[in-house]
Amino acid sequence: MAGVAHVIVDVRTRQLDRPFDYAIPPRWQGRLAPGHRVYVPFGRQYCQGYVLSIDETASGPAKTLKPILAVLDEIPLFTPELLQLHEFVRDRTLCTHLEALQSMIPGAYRAHSVRRYRAVPGDPPALLSAAAERLWQELAARPQAFEPLVRKFGPDAALLLELWLSSGHVEERVEAEDAVRAQVVTVLVPSADAQTLQAAAAARARRAKKQAVLLTALARDKEVRLREAGIRPSDPAVQALVEQGLAVLQQQEVYRAPVAAALREHQPKRELTPAQAAALRAILQAMAAAAGQGVVLHGVTGSGKTEVYLQAIEACLAEGGGAIALVPEIALTPQMVGRFTSRFGQRVAVLHSGLSAGERRDEWLRVRRGEARVVVGARSAIFAPVEQLRLVVVDEAHESSYKQEERPHYDAREIAGWRARHNHAAVVYGSATPSMELLHAAEQGKLTWVSMPFRIENRPMPAVTIVDMREALRQGSRGLFSEALIHGLEAAVEQGQQALLFLNRRGYAAFVLCRGCGESVQCPNCDISLTLHRHGGEEWLQCHYCEYRQAVPEVCERCGEPAVRPFGVGTQQVEHALHERWPHWRVLRMDVDTTRRKGAHREAVERVLNGEVDVLLGTQMIAKGLDFPNVSFVGVIAADTMLNLPDFRAAERTFSLLTQVIGRAGRAEIAGQTVIQTYRPDHYAIQAAARHDFAAFYQTEQAYRQAFQYPPYCELAVFFASHEQESYARGAAARFERELRRLVAAPDAVVLPAAPSGIRRAKGQYRFQVVVKYSQWNRVKNAFASSYAAVSERMRKLGGSCSLDVNALHI
Ligand code: ADP
Ligand code: ZN
Repeated sequence: MAGVAHVIVDVRTRQLDRPFDYAIPPRWQGRLAPGHRVYVPFGRQYCQGYVLSIDETASGPAKTLKPILAVLDEIPLFTPELLQLHEFVRDRTLCTHLEALQSMIPGAYRAHSVRRYRAVPGDPPALLSAAAERLWQELAARPQAFEPLVRKFGPDAALLLELWLSSGHVEERVEAEDAVRAQVVTVLVPSADAQTLQAAAAARARRAKKQAVLLTALARDKEVRLREAGIRPSDPAVQALVEQGLAVLQQQEVYRAPVAAALREHQPKRELTPAQAAALRAILQAMAAAAGQGVVLHGVTGSGKTEVYLQAIEACLAEGGGAIALVPEIALTPQMVGRFTSRFGQRVAVLHSGLSAGERRDEWLRVRRGEARVVVGARSAIFAPVEQLRLVVVDEAHESSYKQEERPHYDAREIAGWRARHNHAAVVYGSATPSMELLHAAEQGKLTWVSMPFRIENRPMPAVTIVDMREALRQGSRGLFSEALIHGLEAAVEQGQQALLFLNRRGYAAFVLCRGCGESVQCPNCDISLTLHRHGGEEWLQCHYCEYRQAVPEVCERCGEPAVRPFGVGTQQVEHALHERWPHWRVLRMDVDTTRRKGAHREAVERVLNGEVDVLLGTQMIAKGLDFPNVSFVGVIAADTMLNLPDFRAAERTFSLLTQVIGRAGRAEIAGQTVIQTYRPDHYAIQAAARHDFAAFYQTEQAYRQAFQYPPYCELAVFFASHEQESYARGAAARFERELRRLVAAPDAVVLPAAPSGIRRAKGQYRFQVVVKYSQWNRVKNAFASSYAAVSERMRKLGGSCSLDVNALHI
């Protein structure tokens, strides 16, 4: 035996996180490559595995080395680049081989085993009944799986199989099968030339019309897809043509084409403005330098960043290269996907979680086979196996959704940088509000900064009015809408334009309070207040963390007072108020509650574009990335909801979100107006957003971050332990803290004391955390790895769980 494959097996235990050796089957010797997906025996079961490397010359003691059972794909799923990248992901996030590898490929690539039985050639067994006879014939025809046989022949089949297995008349084989496979269709293809077919068609024109029609189609199209034509393969006309040697039946693989996200937005290629041209030049220069350079494209809202990306990608394709464009939460940006697909057609593959497993698999495969060279997708599309990668675009690069919240905790922006360096390509981070990290890196000379400070055609930035709601309250106004907001809405709608109303809270009211004791109603599983929902004449309380629901209590559970009162406005309440005041307006609410159904988001965007909506009301999902030419007014109901969060990024997020929302107004011919209602009109984030003053915000924010030592002046890691019992969760966090303190010290790392998390109890689990500030990952990673190992296994045995988020965005 020659050749040993080192394989990572799909078994989720940290102790097994190392390659295991397998013998390469003869048929695959010299062909099996690193990156191939295989099926192997492991312990007493079988499982999927990934070949990390191959030792062609090694020949292990044949007895101890188990053989690979099957090679699951013709081409290796992982390119050499991706195999290297998985090492980087492992090193950077301290995840396992398996976690890193599996995060890179579509979930459809999961094989399970199927046992098949087949008759051994030679003398048949004694066939004592008609049923036994039929079963034997079935097995002799082709290998059969257990389940369908038993379904067809009843429980006796199991007994007979058992009997024949022991007598050696039947053998059993284990095969691997993917749950989601290639979609195949049956096609009829000609086995004669066009002339013969046409002559045959003519000869049958009268006595066999259906055959004649098929023959004509075959002569013209070279194939007939039977299902599409509404014809069964067993149709006598089909069978006749096959028997006469004029055609044959074939199975053909077809791609499932994703229809979900693409919104046909036909946008012709535009002549670039001077600012766009300069930005494109900077990107092309970075590509030409072939040194993995990064460019920050800081373009105000409506400055035309997308057109720059499209033309840069076009240049990349012209040179035979490939490109990846990342967009946040693709379902939220159907317009963006539409612009790509209408410009590049079949050369684009779309990858995001809104697709079915089959669609995702097929789109990915088109990339792996080199048929699609441009990928547009959400976070995990950064792992797309694009070869000759020349450009990576990260649109809305400030978005937190680029960081994966679950294991492995990778940041797609960082991976984008890695791939650019590895491929001698370029990476572009585009945003109207680049993050503090990007600014810092540019100041240190690690990234090139390019600005597009004006809107297309020098359209003005929207005029912004800040309304001090404290003042309104003093004057006795208790309404949701200030005078300025009412005026703005009416002006827009009366002129046949559209308005956007933004509020970052879904539901009817943030919470309900007892009028007597001031107590709010809490979720029984989580340490947070329940939100009031009112919809379709019904009313209930709901937890926005675990989705627990209950009726609104008639009396306060604590003091027995009969009245509870809603506090804090949510989108349902605003919707209600709009209907009350302007009953004839067409209002569309868009938030998590109205867009759960697949395709709902895209339909809503289409309705706004078609002018079927006067006021679009919603949460974050209406604030970003959308380009509605007829929106002239934007109102922000309460700008403070995010400022009050206990998060060091609260100001940055508020600034960024307000900038985005304001930026939805006046993007085409009509000028934009904006009203921001707030109880903190003097806050620098609100002031800077209102004045479109990026520099002012960043100066203030930088000073804070530096003074309190937050990113970008260090990195954060958060260790997190959760358990049903408070003492276990606290104990694990304390132990991690102790271990880590033993191994690292300032200035390499500052370990903060173990403490309860922001929400101390969630989904019935107590949660404790340890926050660590460090500046160089390489100097601390080993300490992190061993401290984590010391705690996590024990915690798992106790029925709890731990996680470690490195380079964390939030604490
Ligand atoms: P943003 O920078 O906010 O992402 P978009 O890329 O959505 O802006 O562009 C804003 C609008 O300007 C879009 O409707 C786009 O079609 C249009 N646009 C972009 N570039 C040009 C151009 N060179 N000439 C005319 N219109 C353009
Ligand atoms: Zn809850």
